[in-house]
Amino acid sequence: MKDPRRSALSLVRPHLLDLAPYEAVDPPEVLAARAGIPESAVVKLNANENPYGPSPKVAEALAHLGRAHIYPDPRQTAMREAVGAHVGLDPSHIVVGNGSDEVIDLLFRAVLGPGDAIIDSVPTFGMYSFVAHVCGGRTVAVERESSFGVDVERVLSTAKSEGAKVLVIASPNNPTGNATPLADVERLLAAGCLVIVDEAYHEFGGATAAELVPVHPNLAVLRTMSKWAGLAGLRVGYGLMAPELADLLLRAKPPYNVSQAAEAALLASLADADTLHERAGWLIDERSRMAGFMSAMDGVTLWPSDANFILCQVGEGRGAAVYDSLARQGVFVRYFRGGRLADFLRISVGRPEETDRFIEAFTVALRD
Ligand code: PMP
Repeated sequence: MKDPRRSALSLVRPHLLDLAPYEAVDPPEVLAARAGIPESAVVKLNANENPYGPSPKVAEALAHLGRAHIYPDPRQTAMREAVGAHVGLDPSHIVVGNGSDEVIDLLFRAVLGPGDAIIDSVPTFGMYSFVAHVCGGRTVAVERESSFGVDVERVLSTAKSEGAKVLVIASPNNPTGNATPLADVERLLAAGCLVIVDEAYHEFGGATAAELVPVHPNLAVLRTMSKWAGLAGLRVGYGLMAPELADLLLRAKPPYNVSQAAEAALLASLADADTLHERAGWLIDERSRMAGFMSAMDGVTLWPSDANFILCQVGEGRGAAVYDSLARQGVFVRYFRGGRLADFLRISVGRPEETDRFIEAFTVALRD
């Protein structure tokens, strides 16, 4: 007879037992403690957050949130209408998630069975391979080309030989910053897999595949309110897809997945989209200013970015040391230990004064 007191771990799906957690970023107080500095001295340029925060209309909407004691609408009617009007699609195409991370999760859970493959164009956002693994699927990584463009031919041939169910492309890509041309997306759609185009950074540059959604039932486009709308902490993003797939996800998701607070914030933000686009414009201008400083620095190579961050390469074998020196100076950027990006850093675009602090610290770090 089985011991009723045995660990619940003996019941867990075996492939999850050695699961490495997704490498998420720490909050400012943890970063401050690590650097031994006050929280106010932290320059946080490691998570592509929006330094200008939400629209002022969000604080107003949250202050008057009268529905905190009522469950949110499981069919997301008001949010789907507002997003539909914002992107120019019928609400039947739309599913809203607890961040676009949740839409990735819902799509993969719907599509991937044990052993099913996704094709990932790497280097890219780590959540795709992470969620695929949790679902019991497997990730087949296809390296991007030398300037980080998607290797369309190899992706297509690999999808075919692996019998892949999903192709994922982040455009603009995190962490490389480049967008994928729509012509490439259209070629990928011919593979017959579910093609996910993750446009988390769309408002900072790059073409959108949203207009292809009504004519390609195997396309899902993801957007988030975390970046351009400054709502990373409230967790709200959405997917655009064929109505039959959207309807399936709406049935399969946790019924109240987006909180009343996140809903109110999304609606207030979309009603104030002009303000948010203007601020995204400030970040685009600041990106150019930051790139100007960085490209004048010896031993630094930059990649052009359509997103709210810049990827750069420092001298060979120098990535970890430069990252550590920046962290000691209270400036936190993103470093990807090992592999093709071992000498690279990704720096989010902040306010001008944050850029100035970063450039100062970077100058020291490069000499350290
Ligand atoms: N996609 C990409 C490419 C991202 O970089 C991120 C956030 N880092 C997300 C999705 C997740 O965004 P959200 O906050 O909406 O879950």
